[in-house]
Formats: sequence, C-alpha cells, structure tokens
Amino acid sequence: MKIYKIAVIAGDGIGPEVVDEGIKVMKKVAELDDRFQFEFTYFPWGCEYYSKYNKMMDEDGLEKLKNFDAIYLGAVGFPGVPDHISLWDLLLRIRKEFDQYVNIRPIKLLNGAPCPLVDGSRDTIDMLFIRENSEGEYAGAGDWLFKGKPEEVVLQTGVFSRKGTERIIRYAFEIASKEEKTLTSISKGNALNYSMVFWDEVFNEVKEEYPDVKTYSYLVDAAAMLMVKDPGRFEVVVTSNLFGDILTDLGAALAGGMGLAAGANINPERSYPSMFEPIHGSAPDIAGKGIANPLAAIWSVSQIFDFLGYEEIGERILKAIEFLVEESAVLTPDLGGIASTAEVGDRVVEILNQNV
Ligand code: ATP
Ligand code: MG
Repeated sequence: MKIYKIAVIAGDGIGPEVVDEGIKVMKKVAELDDRFQFEFTYFPWGCEYYSKYNKMMDEDGLEKLKNFDAIYLGAVGFPGVPDHISLWDLLLRIRKEFDQYVNIRPIKLLNGAPCPLVDGSRDTIDMLFIRENSEGEYAGAGDWLFKGKPEEVVLQTGVFSRKGTERIIRYAFEIASKEEKTLTSISKGNALNYSMVFWDEVFNEVKEEYPDVKTYSYLVDAAAMLMVKDPGRFEVVVTSNLFGDILTDLGAALAGGMGLAAGANINPERSYPSMFEPIHGSAPDIAGKGIANPLAAIWSVSQIFDFLGYEEIGERILKAIEFLVEESAVLTPDLGGIASTAEVGDRVVEILNQNV
C-alpha cells in the first residue's frame, strides 16, 4: 500500500475551517480504497505565526516541504499583515521555489450552482484555465524611484522568458490535444508591445507542433467580455500570470462564486511538490463563524487525486460535489443554504460512502 505524505498549511481565517473538510474527504477516500493511505503533517504558518515570529514561515520551510507528495493549502492573509507580505513571504515563495509554473483553475458551472448569466449561456460554462504561474507581472521586478517626491515613479516589470512562456503554452497544448478540446490564448499584443507580442509569437510557434488542436487568440479585454456574453466558446485557455489571476476570479463569479473555485499549482516535472488550494482568500468577514463553503477546498482535493494518478477518484469527488449542489439540501449561506462548513463536509463524505 502506498503512503502519500501531505503537508498541510491551513493558514488564516477560513483556511483551517475549509481544510478540515478537505482532509475529512481524503480520509474517507483512503478508508474506502486499500491502495493508499495519507499521512498529514501540519505546518502552523501564516499571519498568526507572523505576529509571533515576524515571518510567515520558517527560514528552512522550503527544505521542510521538499519531500512531501503534495502541499494542501487553505488561505493566507489577514488584516494587520500587509497583503503583499503574506503573499510574497509564503504563497508566491512556494510557487516560485518549487517551480510550480502551471496554475490549473477549472471553471465549470455545476448543475444547481448560482450563475449571474441568463439561461442558455450558463449551460456551456466549462473551461480549464492554464495560468502561467512563475513570472510575468509577478516576477517581483521593478523599482520605486524618488519616493515621496513630486517626480516619484514606480516601475513594475513584466518578465516573460522564452523558457517560461514556451513551457506553459506547450503544457496547455498537451492538455488540449489529450482532451480533444480547443485552445484559446489570451494576451494583449496591441498595447503591451514587448511582452504580449512575444507571447503571441511563441504561441504561434508552438501551435505548429499541434496541428490537431484548434486554436483561438483573444485580447484580454475582449476575452473578459466574451466570458460573460458567450462563455461556451472557451474550452482550454492559456494566459499570463496577471491576466489569469483576474479572469479566473471572473470565472469563479460565473461558476457559483469563490466558495466553489479550486486551483492547483503544478510542477509538471515532479522535481518538487505541487500545491493545491481553494483560490479564495482568508475571508476575514466570515472567519470563525463556521459558515465558509468548503467545496472549493474539497474540489482541490479532487485535483490532488488527479495529480497522484487516481483520476477516477478525482472524478468521483467532483461528482459528489455536483450531487450535493444539485440536491441543494445541505449548502452554506453563499450558495443560499443554512448549513455549516462541517455539515457540508459531512454530506460530501456521506455521498461518497453511498457511492451515488
Ligand atoms: P484575502 O485577503 O486572504 O485574499 P479576501 O478578503 O480577499 O481575503 P476572499 O476570500 O478572496 O477574501 O473572498 C472575498 C469574499 O468572498 C470574502 O470576503 C467572503 O465574503 C467571500 N468568500 C470567499 N471564500 C468563501 C468561501 N469559501 N465561502 C463563503 N464565502 C467566501
Ligand atoms: Mg482576495
């Protein structure tokens, strides 16, 4: 029997509340399947840790995480700690150091989930966003000149390397080809005259290697509009770090809200552990109330199983989420229900148990 080592960074706010439910699901699946077990190791990192030790994680934190099969993250960030510190000192550090250059964010509207679009458009929302996760505007490159003076200037540089751009685009082509889906590239070559012209060039080059994949290219502004007006035209989508961040929040709003949006940070070469998380933040407004929706965190558990090579289990967990949303008896307030976080987790476990 295989034992998978999972590092758990539950983090701040609703992070620990939703992670508990994800782990409940993982334990249930392991109980039902004798091929594997999980061993969970908790790391108490995040903003509370920061308030005590003035750092979000241990100095040798990455060393500690290195040998795990996967990292399961809740959310980091809380009022009192500037967002850019909590983000850079933990989340972005792990993504970068472990070269998790692929961010996979499914945007799939489940039956019964709320959607602001009119009937018709809403039937077709099933996209897979492949967001570049290691460079672009998140490279941390820039300068702050003449601080506080009238001539103050701030530069935030987007970094697009040949290696970084090519590998994410190729990854997206591989998925589109394997799943026989169309691939849409989203960029902004008309205004960003270096980075996005380069992106488009690389996309067109790599495209030559995949004649079987039908492709589209959109400017990011047009893509934002089309995601709302005609979401059915998007299947697999590849885009840069910043555009992917923004558009997947839009996507989350289309597909039931932040409580249903999951994301995987993948190092495809498996040289380092990959990291799985709900894409929402710590949601301080509802933290501690026991009403956070754990379905995004549970959906990211489904991505862990996909990644470990048990796609049928990933699919089963997703089906269980879908069943729960459709039956609409046990839902948290964000989805119009009155259930608690734990009740939703328990219901998912029940559904998995009954194998419906
Ligand atoms: P952070 O600073 O950590 O990013 P945030 O204040 O931006 O946190 P988010 O979690 O990104 O908060 O989401 C914004 C709002 O969406 C929250 O304030 C909350 O009301 C709602 N929300 C987010 N996640 C959930 C969830 N899992 N269940 C219910 N509501 C949620
Ligand atoms: Mg946020």
